[in-house]
Amino acid sequence: MADLLTVDEASRLILDRVKPLASERVPLVESAGRVLAEDARSAVDLPPFPSSAMDGFAVRAVDTPARLPVVARIAAGHPAPVPLESGQAMAIATGGVVPDGADAVVPIEVAADDGDAVDVPSAEPGAHVRPRGGDLAKSDVVVEAGTFLRTAELAALAAAGVAEAACARRPRVALVTTGSELRRPGETLAPGQIYESNGVMLAAAVVSAGAVVDAHASVADDEGEHRAVLERGLEADVLITSGGVSVGPHDLVRRIEAELGVEEVFWRVAVKPGKPVSFGVRGSTLVFGLPGNPVSSLVCFELFVRPALLALQGVRNPWPEFQPGVLGSAVRRNAERDEFLRARVRADADGVVLEPLTGQESHMIARAATADALVLAPRGDGEIEAGSGVRYLPLR
Ligand code: AMP
Ligand code: MG
Repeated sequence: MADLLTVDEASRLILDRVKPLASERVPLVESAGRVLAEDARSAVDLPPFPSSAMDGFAVRAVDTPARLPVVARIAAGHPAPVPLESGQAMAIATGGVVPDGADAVVPIEVAADDGDAVDVPSAEPGAHVRPRGGDLAKSDVVVEAGTFLRTAELAALAAAGVAEAACARRPRVALVTTGSELRRPGETLAPGQIYESNGVMLAAAVVSAGAVVDAHASVADDEGEHRAVLERGLEADVLITSGGVSVGPHDLVRRIEAELGVEEVFWRVAVKPGKPVSFGVRGSTLVFGLPGNPVSSLVCFELFVRPALLALQGVRNPWPEFQPGVLGSAVRRNAERDEFLRARVRADADGVVLEPLTGQESHMIARAATADALVLAPRGDGEIEAGSGVRYLPLR
């Protein structure tokens, strides 16, 4: 078993086979959760004009403190028609254009306005004025290529006048769960049957990685059924199977895939849970065989499939982002395999503490659902003591 691939070796073999998908122009409202394919540049200086940060009075700082005539009232979107002259004030709304000649805004809260004139205290030059281009200059990069577009990035693009984003095409994924014992939730279980749970989990995981589920099938451990759905699944950008990649006589996935022309890149990795995971390619299709145990499927998705889906979309750093933390209680290492323990994250004065859950077996998906981290326990002898520094992958 010492010759099993490590997680890092397996990850590299996967990313070596990923060719980023082509890009397409997408209206901004449809680009949430997608990956920007080219640097997006601002169409304007941002803000596009010196604007008021407060409701108040635009003045010249050198004139203050003073009682000044109010010569205009400026609403947002309606610039003053004339510059501000020495010894004048103009009422101004938040977001209004600070008129030429003015260099400060006195907030309404500290001014006394009687309609015709206003008493203002001393103001510093630049006070409550947002300078033109203070956030970004025209033609500057707003969001870099390879960025996953989330809320603030979308707003930044919109503010910069970007109407369409060049985004990587979403990877199309075919999902196939295998196992004659599996029934859909809602059906009645006969003896020996269990509810199929990997399908819904993997579908949600695929969507969270910016990809789309193109086809979703569940098959019995039957060669003909496998052949039919795998053949169709191989037309997607990514085929993900669950179950049927171990060494039992009913584990058909790898054999049938080989018959269908899949070149196997690896089978089995020194990881717990998830050892039987497989990866191959046919043409440009990436083919992942996740083990059927639900926690194994979950862990293998995060370690191997999510990075591949992100890399297909050109994400700059598709690798899982491990964080540093401290182990809350001792764990026994696995001699041969790096182990990913389900744990709860707790923040205390010393930082992030990871409390491994009881019930670490790979079928225990209900226990795993209460975890919010996967803690890496590198293979080796003996224990990792409580208080040791570890790395973990956040699950939410
Ligand atoms: P396998 O990898 O096919 O040998 O399956 C390993 C274990 O995971 C068995 O106990 C299966 O019943 C279970 N299993 C396989 N596929 C699923 C699934 N889609 N949902 C829930 N459990 C599964
Ligand atoms: Mg099976």
